[in-house]
Amino acid sequence: MKVIIIFGPPGSGKGTQAKLLAKQLNLIHFSTGEELRKEANKKTKLGKQINSLISQGNLVPDELSTQITQNFIFSNKKKNILLDGFPRTLKQAENLLTFFKKIGCDKILVINLKVSKKELINRILERAKIEHRKDDNKKTIKQRLKVYHNQTKPIIKFLRRNKIKIFNFNGKGNIEEIQKEITKKIKFD
Ligand code: AMP
Repeated sequence: MKVIIIFGPPGSGKGTQAKLLAKQLNLIHFSTGEELRKEANKKTKLGKQINSLISQGNLVPDELSTQITQNFIFSNKKKNILLDGFPRTLKQAENLLTFFKKIGCDKILVINLKVSKKELINRILERAKIEHRKDDNKKTIKQRLKVYHNQTKPIIKFLRRNKIKIFNFNGKGNIEEIQKEITKKIKFD
């Protein structure tokens, strides 16, 4: 099994790039955020808790996102996977590497999309007009960027220390151009 992890702040275009890349490289795309939003739409106690955390721009507990993501990986372990939105904390990253060793994942690549803060805020506000996500508003964006900076960004150093190859890309600009840059560098065989 081989895995690509797509990494970047909220609004960096990782969801869009993930969908295109999955098609092109024949990978199964798994967005932890999308799965959580499905759960949040249910009127269950858990759904309401998730909804409240997402709406405030906070992360759901590590145990929950880890369980959802690892279940998916496990049931697709004969295929190649593109992870979008996982890991998002150091704890999740540590658990993921242990899990990969256990199930015999032989290649992990990381795509890191970089976009300036100003551009991110503009993009999310633009997306809000189209997708109507509950967490795409000015107040929540600030919190999501803070969470990214404090909890998610440190994962890059952790992965590097663990000898995982990180490919940095400028996430600003035209979707197709960025896609081309990525596929030029990412060889997945
Ligand atoms: P996304 O669609 O990737 O922007 O994720 C939307 C929201 O889902 C995030 O702001 C978090 O509240 C939650 N979420 C997504 N992935 C994770 C994760 N790996 N751990 C915890 N919460 C997550």
